[in-house]
Amino acid sequence: MSSTSQRKVIVKDPQTSSPKPSQPQPDFNPNIPPVEKKAAYANIPLPSKGLPYRKFYDKNTIAIRPLELEEVKAVKAIFGGGSNLKLNSVLAGVFQDFRTDQLTFGDYLYCLAWLRENTYMAAPIEVPWTCPECQTENVCTVHLQKMTMIELPDNFREPMVIQLPVSKKEVRLRLERMGDDEIVDRYLKGMLNKTEWDDSEEWLPRLALTIDNGADIHVNVQFLQTLAPEDVTVIEAVGDEFEHGLPSLLTDTCTGKKSDGSKEVVCGFVNKRIRFDFRVLNLLPVADYRGFVRNGVRFGG
Ligand SMILES: [Zn+2]
Repeated sequence: MSSTSQRKVIVKDPQTSSPKPSQPQPDFNPNIPPVEKKAAYANIPLPSKGLPYRKFYDKNTIAIRPLELEEVKAVKAIFGGGSNLKLNSVLAGVFQDFRTDQLTFGDYLYCLAWLRENTYMAAPIEVPWTCPECQTENVCTVHLQKMTMIELPDNFREPMVIQLPVSKKEVRLRLERMGDDEIVDRYLKGMLNKTEWDDSEEWLPRLALTIDNGADIHVNVQFLQTLAPEDVTVIEAVGDEFEHGLPSLLTDTCTGKKSDGSKEVVCGFVNKRIRFDFRVLNLLPVADYRGFVRNGVRFGG
């Protein structure tokens, strides 16, 4: 996987990798600054069970710690003009043995949920969606505590090898990684000569990165473009089949009204496919959130 970061992954034994106990506080001495309090790492289950990382990691848990105050401020600062890439760099220190770009989308999602639950005051997440029937802007309320972690099956292995139904070609596939964001970003900047794009433009290069053949993204995008739509659909379906972490499809009912001839009626459109779009950071509190972090330190103006 390509990445600009050259940092090595160090897989540590949990016994030796736990954070050092903070130094004993000296008696009052105005010349010594207070010892910085570091949050402790916790081992939490990986929805993927670590199966996609077997080349360099042999555990089914990940060591993670809550955000520290400086990180909370940094997360807050990237709202509005935020992107996954900025969030990835802010969160670089919260995983003990991983770079954020190595994690699967599903594992990352689950870790973000953990960070929210363990850093901020408990509050439901509000996911906006626009009704396709009446264009009302609805808000679907999500309670993380009620969500069930989705795990990969025990026999999951990468690459996933499938034969395409139309071309009969065999392709090797892998799951999406958070590092894909950076590659797609670079690719689209080069191809479209602009800095912002929508999901429909991201979709193909993102899918191209799941083809695990060592080829460049340009080559695999072109390969996808030569395939019959049925073949492309099958490639996409493999990724969906192994969705893990948190459910990204939510159900909600439209509260809006629409005109039915002469009178207004409640729309009531049931949307079963609201994508819980974690790329817009909606797992972390919104920009004007004036909360407390868990240790009771107040931030925000
Ligand atoms: Zn509606």
